[in-house]
Amino acid sequence: MSDNIFAKIINKEIPADIIYEDDQCVAFRDVNPQAPVHFLVVPRKPIAKLQDLTAEEEGLIGHLHGVITRLAEQEKIAEGYRVVVNSGSSAGQSVFHLHFHVLGGRPMRWPPG
Ligand code: AMP
Repeated sequence: MSDNIFAKIINKEIPADIIYEDDQCVAFRDVNPQAPVHFLVVPRKPIAKLQDLTAEEEGLIGHLHGVITRLAEQEKIAEGYRVVVNSGSSAGQSVFHLHFHVLGGRPMRWPPG
C-alpha cells in the first residue's frame, strides 16, 4: 500500500475538506488553492502517476471524469474550468498518488507555466 499524504487522507488518518467520496475515489479541496475553486479528485487505488496506468484502469479514469463533471456543477464552475494532471517530478508532481486538479472561478491563461 502507498504511504503518501493522499493515502492518509483517503484512510481518514489526517483531515481534509472532503467534498465527495465513493467506492473508487475521494475529492477534497487543495490546501494551497491556485484558483477560487481548486479541488483534487483522487482514486482510492494507489497509482503513483498517470504514466503508470494500465488498461485495467481505463474504466476507473472514465469514472473519475464523470465525478469531475458532476463536481464542477456542484461547485458552480461548470461554465469554465481546467483539469490538470502533473505526471512526474519534472512536470511538477509532488505527491506520488495519482490526482486530478480541478481549477475554476477565475479566467485561465494559456500556455500554463
Ligand atoms: P502535485 O504537485 O500535482 O503533485 O499536486 C499536489 C497538490 O496537493 C498540491 O496542489 C498541494 O497543495 C496539495 N496538497 C498537499 N497536501 C495536501 C493536503 N494535506 N490537503 C490538501 N491538498 C494537499
